[in-house]
Amino acid sequence: MRVVDAHVHIFPDEIVAHRERFLERDFWFGQLYSPPRARLATAEDLIASMDEAGIDLSIACGFPWRDIGLCQYHNDYMAAAARTYPDRIAWLAIGSPACDGIARMIEDAFGRGASGVGELNADAQDFDLREPERLQPLVEVCIAHDRPVMIHASEPVGHDYPGKGAATPDRFLRFLSAYPDLRVVAAHWGGGLPFYELMPEVRLTTVNLSYDSAASTYLYDHSVFETTAQLVGADRILFASDYPVLRQGPILQKCRQRPWADDAVRAAVLGENAIRVYRLEEKFT
Ligand SMILES: [Zn+2]
Repeated sequence: MRVVDAHVHIFPDEIVAHRERFLERDFWFGQLYSPPRARLATAEDLIASMDEAGIDLSIACGFPWRDIGLCQYHNDYMAAAARTYPDRIAWLAIGSPACDGIARMIEDAFGRGASGVGELNADAQDFDLREPERLQPLVEVCIAHDRPVMIHASEPVGHDYPGKGAATPDRFLRFLSAYPDLRVVAAHWGGGLPFYELMPEVRLTTVNLSYDSAASTYLYDHSVFETTAQLVGADRILFASDYPVLRQGPILQKCRQRPWADDAVRAAVLGENAIRVYRLEEKFT
């Protein structure tokens, strides 16, 4: 069984060693990483974690910097990590969607092997999912290259946490309906959007949407896996941890043990869906 963790975060060594240099350069980074207990991981930390957990491939994201120079710096790091570990690490390009030059930057990242764009964050990067036209240059590049965009999603209810934001299902749907041809992955179970897929008009808007399970343990009971599968279909669910927010081993174990219909469904959720959505087959050849 091929196991893919579809959503982890890695950072350049300099940021891991000297986070204090970046706390004031980016408001959202300061919000999340001022507490010293908020973990940061390098590519090497990730590989060690994957070896321990039994994960074949991880899809690495950077951080949703507002400054395009920091995005570029992070993309350079992830491209290098994927070159060092070509069969273990895939990566998503990060860009600040509203910045000038975003299309060229993402085009360049695809040329360097990025499997998609993400994790975009409306609150961190000063864009609004209710104004989807501002993201058009980025969206057009992704559609042209048939690559998905992974976007942070927020629960409109429940406890508050650093980084939660306001990318709630209603805003998410506004964005999806503007770009029906764009393939999108909603992080963290789409902030509860799967429930609204029971509404026929919502279902029509989400045909190109998948969900990842990042940070599940922080947010939901573990039955979220099979419950969401029942709501939207197991073929649209990607196993993901949000490492190093969560440890990969325990959440993988939990996901594996859920009462899936059969082994084919289990294999789809644990890796095959991510391989299809992010077009990762070449990583396994
Ligand atoms: Zn994340």
